[in-house]
Formats: sequence, C-alpha cells, structure tokens
Amino acid sequence: MFKGKTALVTGSTSGIGLGIARHFASQGAHIVLNGFGDAAEIEALRADIASTHGVQVRYQGADMSKQAEIEAMMATVLAEFGCIDMLVNNAGIQHVAPVDEFPVDKWNAILAINLSATFHTVRLALPAMKARGWGRIVNIASAHALVASKYKSAYVAAKHGVAGFTKTVALEVAEAGITMNAICPGYVLTPLVEKQIPDTAKARGITNEQVISDVLLAAQPTKKFVTVEQVAGFAAFLCSDAAASITGAILPVDGGWTAQ
Ligand code: NAD
Repeated sequence: MFKGKTALVTGSTSGIGLGIARHFASQGAHIVLNGFGDAAEIEALRADIASTHGVQVRYQGADMSKQAEIEAMMATVLAEFGCIDMLVNNAGIQHVAPVDEFPVDKWNAILAINLSATFHTVRLALPAMKARGWGRIVNIASAHALVASKYKSAYVAAKHGVAGFTKTVALEVAEAGITMNAICPGYVLTPLVEKQIPDTAKARGITNEQVISDVLLAAQPTKKFVTVEQVAGFAAFLCSDAAASITGAILPVDGGWTAQ
C-alpha cells in the first residue's frame, strides 16, 4: 500500500509509535524512527524492521522537546528522501499530579513534546507535501483530547490543543491533497501507561490493581485495553487513498470510553 513512500513516526522506539512504524514498513514504506532508548537496542530494531520488510529504515534521535533538534532532523530527512509523505506525530509523555502540586518543568515538557513538537514537524513537512500534491498527517492524540481525567492537567491541555491544531491545519491544506487527522486512543498497555499506574495509585490513595480495574478499564466499556496493532491499523487506513475525504477529524479508538 505504501511502496515508495516515506513515513516519519516520532516516538517510535516504543509502544504505539513502534507498532505504527512496523506496520507501515510491512506495507512497503521507508521509515524514519525517532525516540529515546539504548543505542544498541535501537540499532537492532532499525536493522530488524529494514530486513524483515525490505525497506529503508533510518533513525533520528531528535529530542522532540527541542525546536533546534526537530529542525535538524526534519532537514536531514527531507534532504535524503525529498518528502515525508506520511508524518505521524506520536511522541508523548505523561505526568500525573494534582494541578496545585504539578511540577512546572513537567508542565513545560508535556506541552513541548505532546503539542509544540507537532507544530514544528507539520510546519516543516508541509512545503514538500504541497509541492507533491499529496500528504498524510496523523496525530496520535488521546481520549484525553476529548474528555478530561483528574490529575492530568498538562496532558489533557496538550491533547485538546492537538485536536484544535489538527482541525485548523486540515482546513488550511484541504485543497492540496493533504489530510490531517487525530487518533484518540483509549488506554493501551504501553510503558507510558505502566509508568503512571503507581502515581495514579498514590494520587487517589488506592492500589495498582485498583488503578487498572477501577480507573483505567473502568473508563472503557469493552473492559479491554486498546491494542497497539489496532491503533497502527487505523493510522494506516487514514494514510490510504480510501481515507482521502477524512480530514480534520478527531477519531476515538477507545473501546467506547468517550461515547459515555
Ligand atoms: P511510550 O512511552 O511507550 O512511547 C513514547 C515514545 O516517545 C518513546 O519512543 C519515547 O522514547 C518517545 N519520546 C518520549 N519523549 C521524547 C522526546 N522528548 N523526544 C523524542 N521522543 C520522545 O508511550 P505510548 O503509550 O506508546 O504513547 C505514544 C503516544 O500515544 C503518546 O503521544 C501518548 O500520549 C499517546 N497515547 C497513549 C495512550 C496509552 O494508553 N498508551 C493512550 C492515548 C494516547
């Protein structure tokens, strides 16, 4: 489906981003990986995806909280591939604390990585997409782009911001063959969620097991975690020609969470 196209997936050394990178590679896309992690493990991932699917896979370690590093990454990728045909803004972090105790550095980091990084990659990717008359931008937002939960003020603010940004840019590029949408997953059991379980337990005064059953899965009528593969499959659909008329949409993949 994506033969000859290039996809940059931010935050793709783990979790949802890695699942998207693997799935897009399986459809023939060349992949640019980004994210943190052990250098040898990332190189093993890069080589594995390239050899399994016969595509080119590059790694760019830009810190998505730093504008200059994002700009350098985008310049390198655009110089090599000419265009980032499919841009998936996925890098994200979370911190759970009451707002009057929320660490200011965490607020700034969450806004930078979860929201401002998307502005930077989009503004830098668009000129080449416009020149080719084709482009797909998928932002991995969250159910928290649509509804709030206690103790996640920065994350909810950033993800609601992603939703607004998605709608705005979609309108601006609607006649240029470019779509931009936001996927809003419910809970997916990745390291990001595993890490917040103890903090949520502390903030709410309950056990880790109660966080899973009474907070996380309680939100989802299916009583099941969303899977990485389900999010990746939907992201690929949004990048297909069949999805050419879907743009500016804020799309839940949340087991019915936001239907309530
Ligand atoms: P994860 O922690 O497994 O992966 C996050 C990725 O982002 C990693 O590759 C990490 O290295 C990278 N990253 C973090 N900070 C970075 C930075 N400063 N620069 C570059 N890369 C950075 O998390 P995940 O659950 O796969 O989350 C991916 C996205 O999905 C996030 O935007 C998250 O908000 C969103 N999301 C996750 C869930 C969930 O339940 N897991 C639900 C809704 C939305």
